[in-house]
Amino acid sequence: MPADAQDESEKRIEDLLKTGLISLWQKESQLHAREPGTYYPSYLGYCLRKQYYIYTIGERVTPEALAIFMTGQGVHEIVAKAFSESTTVESVEEKITLNFTDDIRLSGRIDIIIVDIDGKKYIIEVKSASRIPDSPYESHMIQLEIYLHSLNVDDGFVLYWNKRSGEVKAFSVKKSSEWLGKIYERAAMLHYHMNMAQLPPPEAYLNGRAWECKRCPYLNECNPGPL
Ligand code: SF4
Repeated sequence: MPADAQDESEKRIEDLLKTGLISLWQKESQLHAREPGTYYPSYLGYCLRKQYYIYTIGERVTPEALAIFMTGQGVHEIVAKAFSESTTVESVEEKITLNFTDDIRLSGRIDIIIVDIDGKKYIIEVKSASRIPDSPYESHMIQLEIYLHSLNVDDGFVLYWNKRSGEVKAFSVKKSSEWLGKIYERAAMLHYHMNMAQLPPPEAYLNGRAWECKRCPYLNECNPGPL
């Protein structure tokens, strides 16, 4: 095959894959209506400004972010399958709702793993990562705490799966009222900015999470500073 034709056919395969990823996401995102006042549990731990854009500009994704997300989904499925070989496991799509006030709630459908070990239930939040941290990231703690509170389960684990080395590490997490307070503060702050039609501070950038900004589909609008 001539080099030009080869380049073209390789590009075509890449484009077909990217188009397919976007199409899968569009089908999935139609299931998640975005109403101010109802915030999405899996997003709340991430940059509040980004969430503001999701509600005001509309949700955007890049094929690269989707590829990362779907890799995570694949790991989630493998982990659920592996646990089902060694213990009792429910891998379910759950509707999570956490009502804070009449007009602020967290709600959404999430894929969740609940294991039963010696008669006790635990929620496992699986995260694939390129590096295992020394302690769970705050955004992952927030996610798991939301699930623990909304499903009324006392204990869980953030389970990291290093996609490069294959290493795994579980961090035990207890349902905590302190975390619930923090989660409420974040939801209330987002709601305040939504009501005031006022952009929240560029939280990810200010907190040194340049990686979040580099992957952010609203980087151009936000323009937080040098990365
Ligand atoms: S570019 Fe960074 S600070 Fe701005 S919205 Fe995106 S994640 Fe947040």
